[in-house]
Amino acid sequence: MKAVLILLASMLLMNASCQTKQEPSAIISSTQKNSNPMDSNFNKSEEEWKKTLSEEQFYVLREKGTERPFTGKYNLHFEKGTYKCAGCGYELFTSDQKFESHCGWPSFDNEIGNGDRVKKIKDFSHGMIRTEVVCARCNGHLGHLFDDGPTKTGNRYCINSVSIDFEPEKKK
Ligand SMILES: [Zn+2]
Repeated sequence: MKAVLILLASMLLMNASCQTKQEPSAIISSTQKNSNPMDSNFNKSEEEWKKTLSEEQFYVLREKGTERPFTGKYNLHFEKGTYKCAGCGYELFTSDQKFESHCGWPSFDNEIGNGDRVKKIKDFSHGMIRTEVVCARCNGHLGHLFDDGPTKTGNRYCINSVSIDFEPEKKK
C-alpha cells in the first residue's frame, strides 16, 4: 500500500515539474513586438501632412482632390523608371505599366506587387460608383481604378500626377 502511495506521489511530482517546464515557452510569444514601424511614420495627422506636402499635394492626397486633366507633369511622361507615392515614397507603379490612355491623367494597367500596395475603396461620390485607389501605406488619395483598360489586365489606374513622384531607372 505504501509503495503505491509513493508511486502516486512521485507521478504527481513529475507531472508538476513538467508543467513548470512548459511555462517559459508560453511567455515568449507575448514579447513579440512586431508593430510595423511604417505605421507610425505614415499615420500622420492632417496638420502634419500640411507641413510636409505642397498645397496641391495636400488637396489631392489628403482631401481627395483631382488635378485638371492634361495638366499633370506625368500625363505624357514615358521615361523608364518607378513611380512612388508622393506622400510616403512607397513604390507603386513602373514605367512598363504606364500607357497613354488619352484621358488626361497618367494611366497604368497594373501596380507593383500583389495588389497590396494600392488599396481599392468603393467611392459613391459625385453620383457615380467608382473605385477609389489610395496608397496602402499612407492612405494618400491617388486616383481611381477602372476596368476599361486596353491592355491584357483590363485595368486602368487613372492617377493624379500630383500624387506620385518619378524616379528614373538607374543606368547600369
Ligand atoms: Zn503613400
